[in-house]
Amino acid sequence: MSALILIELNGSEVSANSRAAITAASQLSDSVDALVLTNDASNSSSVAALSGINTVKMIVDDSLENSSVEVASKLIADVMGDYKYLISGSSTFSKNILPRVGALLDVQPISDVCEIKSNNTFVRPLYAGNVMATVETSDETIVMTVRSTAFEHSGDDGSASVESLSASMSESNSSFVSLQESESERPELTTADRIVSGGRGLGSKENFALIEQLADKLDAAVGASRAAVDAGFISNDYQVGQTGKVVAPKLYLAVGISGAIQHLAGMKDSQVIVVINNDPDAPMSRMADLVWQVDLFDALNELNAYQV
Ligand SMILES: Cc1cc2nc3c(=O)[nH]c(=O)nc-3n(C[C@H](O)[C@H](O)[C@H](O)COP(=O)(O)OP(=O)(O)OC[C@H]3O[C@@H](n4cnc5c(N)ncnc54)[C@H](O)[C@@H]3O)c2cc1C
Repeated sequence: MSALILIELNGSEVSANSRAAITAASQLSDSVDALVLTNDASNSSSVAALSGINTVKMIVDDSLENSSVEVASKLIADVMGDYKYLISGSSTFSKNILPRVGALLDVQPISDVCEIKSNNTFVRPLYAGNVMATVETSDETIVMTVRSTAFEHSGDDGSASVESLSASMSESNSSFVSLQESESERPELTTADRIVSGGRGLGSKENFALIEQLADKLDAAVGASRAAVDAGFISNDYQVGQTGKVVAPKLYLAVGISGAIQHLAGMKDSQVIVVINNDPDAPMSRMADLVWQVDLFDALNELNAYQV
């Protein structure tokens, strides 16, 4: 019952999501391979160094630099063969591709797995994490994504063999037009140890800069509630929650965020939660380790002025 990990690369680096997927796969199978779709053959080295991988299967083609998900899904479905499991970390990357692979293989993908009970039984969140459902699948091939906050991240002491696969690129109805990536020197939101997150309470995009200032001071990532994103304070790459990123940092500092269940779904596994809010009844305050009940502008100005 072998497992195949669909690797997500950020440049040449393996994503934290993929590292969590390897750990999950090792609970299901003694034989875990990795699949990389790339335009750059040299990416094989970072994947081959991952702990817990037997063989890295590489499909290298110039068109894969910006290939459509339809093309990628077809390639993955063709590689599946005798693999029992196709596993990837939960991310926009995998959520775009794996349902399409599921459709091609005629199986029901299982998303956001947080715990593995047996080789076909998994625990996953429902209703924004308010219910943890145990689901059992009877599919012959199991396609799943796993929460990167629920599994250890595989290290870099492996030495997997690398195999090149030849593949023919299929036609697609969609084509790549352009990519707009937000660039930031700050830590990546989903893997950061510290996150300073701002909500509607900030009131404007200009005020939201106070959150960014504090994040820089703490070497933290910036997060936001959906209300802050919808109001245009910051781009939706930074949204934390049910329809945003799921995070579990050591410190989550929530400023002017009420703590709607959809927001809590994305950050409730944080180790220490600190809240700055002037409403003592805000749900966010009820789940916090520390609440600073104060006007957030006073708090942010004080913290930003503090000399370390
Ligand atoms: C299907 C669905 C999916 C959703 N997904 C997400 C999601 O992924 N992420 C998400 O965040 N939301 C999500 N939402 C929206 C969610 O329900 C809330 O509307 C949103 O989280 C509220 O954002 P907020 O806490 O910033 O705003 P508010 O609820 O308006 O809270 C603002 C807070 O700021 C405090 N405040 C205001 N001024 C000050 C001040 N001067 N000093 C101190 N405190 C102050 C207030 O006391 C209040 O607690 C989703 C909703 C739906 C229906």
